[in-house]
Amino acid sequence: MVEYTRGLHRVAEDVWAWLLPDGGWGWSNAGLVRGEGESFLIDTLFDLELTGEMFEAMTSVTEEHPIRAALNTHANGDHCFGNQLLGPEVTIHATADTEHEMRHGTTPERLAGLVAGDHEPLLSEFFQHCFGAFAFDGIILRGPDTTFDEARTVDVGGRLVELRRLGPAHTHGDAVAFVPDCGVLFTGDLLFNGGTPIMWADSISSWIAACDRMIELGPEVVVPGHGAVTDVDGILTMRDYLAVVRDGVDASLAAGRSWREAVEHLDLGPYARWPQAERVVVTVYNAYRGARPETPVSQATELFAEMARWRQRHQGK
Ligand SMILES: [Zn+2]
Repeated sequence: MVEYTRGLHRVAEDVWAWLLPDGGWGWSNAGLVRGEGESFLIDTLFDLELTGEMFEAMTSVTEEHPIRAALNTHANGDHCFGNQLLGPEVTIHATADTEHEMRHGTTPERLAGLVAGDHEPLLSEFFQHCFGAFAFDGIILRGPDTTFDEARTVDVGGRLVELRRLGPAHTHGDAVAFVPDCGVLFTGDLLFNGGTPIMWADSISSWIAACDRMIELGPEVVVPGHGAVTDVDGILTMRDYLAVVRDGVDASLAAGRSWREAVEHLDLGPYARWPQAERVVVTVYNAYRGARPETPVSQATELFAEMARWRQRHQGK
């Protein structure tokens, strides 16, 4: 049982997780795998301060076994905005779809603008709640140096790390890193543990399939993108949630409801009390866009406003 506290935690022989409680919006995890004379990093963090703090804590390992390569599990800023702090000698891997999503995704300037923007009070408070704790200035986006489509094996000083694309799920390009010699799986945001998943891609079924593929790897230790270190049970719990949302969406599609009606019609049961339960708004919207491409596009600010209202209605916040 790995304690869920901020910092570097050993999860197996020469494998560590960097954990950032409480795992809510922007508070993401990362990982480090040590081989002979070199190390491999899984993800950077949301801003330069957080990433610098992590690299500082990792020097006990990386001084003698420097980071030579890294994986960005996906394009969300809380997993790659710290990339510039990696030296030019570090090779960053990502899927081709993640590279595309990084190029066209939300920039640090955009996030800073949303936090500082002139919105209705409820939305301003919500942006502050989601992103107000992070410093988006000074970030220069750095993308991957090399991309892969489905799978790649990286040799980390004689130790093999398997990179597998399992998306589309949370995003289109999602990849995981698996260390077969000790059964540690770094899932990126294919797994939220103790919080609510959010789907930016467009098929809940394919995320459920990704859960099954993670389980098939037979991991002993699972490091989620957000939340405490877990095992296969953590994947099963989130899979159950996704199945409830998928079934609700399918029923609403069949009944001819709009996506907003589908959100309101969905009975989340105990999941309505999960942290960040408001994310169901975005997941249902994107599931609709996938199933019914004629669904009108909603801008990010609209979706965040819908989430803020959902949170107020259901959780009184
Ligand atoms: Zn994340």
